[in-house]
Amino acid sequence: MSQDLKPETLALHAGWRADPATGAVAVPIYQTTSYQFHDTQHAADLFALRELGNVYTRLGNPTTDVLEQRVAALDGGVAALALASGQAASAFAVQNLARAGDNIVSGTDLYGGTWNLFANTLKDQGLEVRFVDPSDPDAFRAATDARTRAYYIETLPNPKLVVPPIAEIAAAGREVGVPLVVDNTAAPLLCRPLEHGAAVVVYSATKYLGGHGTSIGGIIVDGGNFDWEAHAERQPALNTPDPSYHGAVWTQATKPLGPVAYIIKARTTLLRDVGAALSPFNAFLLLQGIETAPLRVARHCENAAAVARWLSRRAGVKKTIHPSLQTGAARERADRYLRGGHGGLVGFELAGAEEGRKFIDSLKLLYHVANIGDARSLAIHPATTTHSQLSAEEQRATGVTPGYVRLSIGIEHIDDILADLDQALAAATGLAEAA
Ligand code: PLP
Repeated sequence: MSQDLKPETLALHAGWRADPATGAVAVPIYQTTSYQFHDTQHAADLFALRELGNVYTRLGNPTTDVLEQRVAALDGGVAALALASGQAASAFAVQNLARAGDNIVSGTDLYGGTWNLFANTLKDQGLEVRFVDPSDPDAFRAATDARTRAYYIETLPNPKLVVPPIAEIAAAGREVGVPLVVDNTAAPLLCRPLEHGAAVVVYSATKYLGGHGTSIGGIIVDGGNFDWEAHAERQPALNTPDPSYHGAVWTQATKPLGPVAYIIKARTTLLRDVGAALSPFNAFLLLQGIETAPLRVARHCENAAAVARWLSRRAGVKKTIHPSLQTGAARERADRYLRGGHGGLVGFELAGAEEGRKFIDSLKLLYHVANIGDARSLAIHPATTTHSQLSAEEQRATGVTPGYVRLSIGIEHIDDILADLDQALAAATGLAEAA
């Protein structure tokens, strides 16, 4: 399918027309573990990667394949790999390049689960993550050494909601053969990181892509825009014989298939060995969500901007955090990288932890959950939940003050959202709406 089609069209059509066997227009759920080979030659060709096709659902599945093609098309990538969760996508994106003794450089502003993965689990595996200020491309340069295999940032990290200089960080990496991985979970459709020089995009599809809050899933998109071969020394994982696949050198073995060495290696080694496969049923559900994602994301943005405006004038609210309220370089980057809206996340600060908790406990419409990106509006008090394992000082460094409340604004009618916020704020602060 032509990648010139607009996102609204790709979200409905990319990767699928109709079932060749039945003519079914909806993508069928191919609920099968295995696939009958035509003959022994066919089986041997599939295993040797001389031909791409279905072998076993841990490695790939026709329903999941449509999801992968659709998200790759939306991001302008060449191929994608769907996984059981966003966490698996983040882990594989890094482990596909970096081994024990190697390092990556990551921005500090990360989802807590990614932080733990990087600071503890990957560290235990001998893979060092060097954390730097995500707004400073020179900090990425300075932390790079001969064993640095990738840079990692989030497009719109909460709670600070400050967009990093994606193009400058990507360019710093490209100078020395280091690809940039961008977690675009909070800004699908708004930002296409590959257009700004990123080489790989990861998603928790659990969030805005699915939107329905029914399915956990993750996706890695390969931009096909990074010359791994030109940086053979820097990227040994893709340029030296892989003993786990009869000595294949991934940049060479995948050449007939296009610039897909990175994603094929992730599928044929990490997914094969670790097994974080997405179920076909969840792939189907995520596809249902993606069909309407462009409409939803637009409404998320519209409602969130209205909530931010309203909160910024509301008595008892010390500070409101949303890109539309930023100034200076942060605002310029938000406008440059987020096209069509500033996302659905809004933060605000009340006087202290007690007010924050009281606000959450007073909500009637908004759900009190740890998720973001659901079609429904959601809220949480990070200091006592998502960030409770951090010290007060660490919390502050990540942007979480005791009175901080995180909202993920949904697609309900804005009047109903504001009415619920209003009554919960009045209960928490004892103050009615300001003039
Ligand atoms: N990345 C970001 C920015 C997230 O917000 C999340 C989940 O909250 C993840 C990754 C992890 O995704 P999942 O929960 O699907 O494993």
